[in-house]
Amino acid sequence: MAALSCKGLVNMRFFSSISAFAGLLLAALIGTVHAAAPPPLRTKLTLTHVAADKWRADYLFAEPVTAIDLGAQIGPYRKMAWRPLTPGATLVADKDRESIRSAEPLTRLSVEISAYDGFDVGHYAPIDRFSDGGWDFYLGFLHGALSQGGRKRTMDVALRLKGLSGETVIAPIKPGGDLAGYAYFGPQEPVRMGNVDVIIDPKAPAWLREVLEETTAKVSRFYEQAFQRKLSATPLISVAVVGFDGGPSSFNIKGGVAGGGIAYRLQGGGLVYDHPKKRSYFASLVAHEMAHVWQVNLARGGIGENDSWIHEGGAEAIMLDALQATGIFSAEARDQYAQKLLKECEQLKDDLTVYRGFYACGFKRFHGFAIAPLPLWRAMMDSSEASGELYSEPMLRAILARGAQGAAR
Ligand SMILES: [Zn+2]
Repeated sequence: MAALSCKGLVNMRFFSSISAFAGLLLAALIGTVHAAAPPPLRTKLTLTHVAADKWRADYLFAEPVTAIDLGAQIGPYRKMAWRPLTPGATLVADKDRESIRSAEPLTRLSVEISAYDGFDVGHYAPIDRFSDGGWDFYLGFLHGALSQGGRKRTMDVALRLKGLSGETVIAPIKPGGDLAGYAYFGPQEPVRMGNVDVIIDPKAPAWLREVLEETTAKVSRFYEQAFQRKLSATPLISVAVVGFDGGPSSFNIKGGVAGGGIAYRLQGGGLVYDHPKKRSYFASLVAHEMAHVWQVNLARGGIGENDSWIHEGGAEAIMLDALQATGIFSAEARDQYAQKLLKECEQLKDDLTVYRGFYACGFKRFHGFAIAPLPLWRAMMDSSEASGELYSEPMLRAILARGAQGAAR
């Protein structure tokens, strides 16, 4: 099963660096399959762009089902934007979870989904609107666990995407059976930039394009060498400018890695104005998200559902080394960033289990290990891929112990 990675969020107001990289891990189904566990239920899913601001998701199940458990509520997204079209099917919220239920077993289920501009910290942005009529649509929220009466089945999805007439449609490179990643629907064709494909909103300011282009090209070349791994596929990096609302002093940038690609969502009046601090923030976000692309660039293994500090703190540590090595950050800028994280972790009382602790205190751990972040992560990637196990603290500790023994000899 595919492991999904996080998404980051940077908020800036008046450069006072109210910044937060949001971390989230969606459930990755792993582990032992009991002899009695029923096999995944084959599901064909067709997502059709039916009008400028509407989609229809048509599920076709190999056997009748009575419910899809969609998992955590994504703020008011499904309540506001989803409308089941199949008679008898209803969207149900129970505590903080959502499902679609039907009294009669169904083999077909259709849901109409409308454009939705909101997002919640800690979750992927559901739908990002480009200024030119393009869209990034997060597919993961269409996935769920199936019920057949009291019997639970996992959903194994074969996905089809259909665009409007003449529209470019791009599926994630690794959508997997559990639908990670963003699909792009819109007028643009991707442009090759180094080892990635890029779609940039025509309204993206020049400074943002420059930072994206420079950081992506330099940092991905650097990661290729540092990790001694080429990307197994060409990721799509898409940048949506959803609006310039708010004053000139505010903007936020959210980046999400999923399905092997990165979707950035830029918003706010402050985007328009170039400033060195904004450039550094965006560069750090790009290098952080690229670090995740490499963390999951494995034939098997990768990011798991627990210990988010490992991949988030790890990405922060990797990112800082990369930015300094490529000359994008000076030694001083790197040190400032590191000190800020260490201070933040101190304020969080070294709590690795809270949202910002994943980043700040995770970074502190990697900062203190006897092996530097880049060789440590090269070993983590090798170990994860060789064993098929997800990144974990025991894996990390084993590598550190071997490294210490090696150094002692
Ligand atoms: Zn992250």
